[in-house]
Amino acid sequence: MTRFETIFGPIPSRRFGTSLGIDLSPGVKQCNFDCLYCELAPARPVDHIENPPSVEKVVTELEAALREHPQVDVVTLTANGEPTLYPCLDELIDRIEAMKKGYKTLVLSNASTIHDPKIREALARLDTVKLSFDCATESCFKKLDRPHPSIRLAPIVEGIETFRKRYDGELILEILMVRGINDKESEIEALNALLPSFGADRIDLGSVDRPPAYPVEGLDYHELLAIARRFDPALPVHVVSRHPEKPNKGRYSDEEILATLAKRPLTREDIETLMDNASIGRFERLLAKGEISTKRAGRLIFYGTGFDRQKSKKRGRHS
Ligand code: SF4
Repeated sequence: MTRFETIFGPIPSRRFGTSLGIDLSPGVKQCNFDCLYCELAPARPVDHIENPPSVEKVVTELEAALREHPQVDVVTLTANGEPTLYPCLDELIDRIEAMKKGYKTLVLSNASTIHDPKIREALARLDTVKLSFDCATESCFKKLDRPHPSIRLAPIVEGIETFRKRYDGELILEILMVRGINDKESEIEALNALLPSFGADRIDLGSVDRPPAYPVEGLDYHELLAIARRFDPALPVHVVSRHPEKPNKGRYSDEEILATLAKRPLTREDIETLMDNASIGRFERLLAKGEISTKRAGRLIFYGTGFDRQKSKKRGRHS
């Protein structure tokens, strides 16, 4: 394969399909955060990308990569850092959208610039926008994400709410849990109070699963699931765990299955982790009888019992 400076992949992703990535800060980390859990080396936060690749270079390399890999599901805007710091983002997104054929477009952002109307306008042209949102309090945000001194949490919150009102595409939030920081009771309560106002199509709840920049500890699948159950059941929370966990394989009666799904919609992977084979059989029968319903969020299917209630709640919020 040709060596590209700004294009990488394709990379198989369970949540987005086969992705071709665009790196807008190739070679060096340039981010306005310095998260404790970053998989890149620690670096002082910056407020712009130095020596960015030209739009022409990115587009030329993307065209060449797509000729080699015409079957990709998604083209992902990302960076060794924060892609929305790229100075020609608007023009680049225009060019990528104009050449789009048969694949979707996605950005992975830390949400730091979503308060800026120009950034919102640019991102709104993409099919999927995935924003990190780890903390609902300023002190937690400063401690965990270690932003550039010019960045505050309140404009990010307002920016996400404003963006959701005008954005028809798929909005995904990602919360990364770090032990002793945002997994505290008070922080979970603050997140739970704020998350409904974002109207996200999906909320991915994950933890540290690659060597972090600083010595922090992650949570395992079962701890994440316990936290997910404490959130409002109307929130489309999806527990993400890259490593297959030891399955629970517990025994669930019909009533227990329905009560569990009423509290927290689950994916099939969650169900196969939690339940033994007989319980999975009972789950299938309840599904066939229509007592369990499904809801699609991107490539994931959630099984639950309260989706009608969630739909009306969501309409009310954004109408
Ligand atoms: S926002 Fe992403 S790239 Fe930037 S420091 Fe945090 S984890 Fe690393």
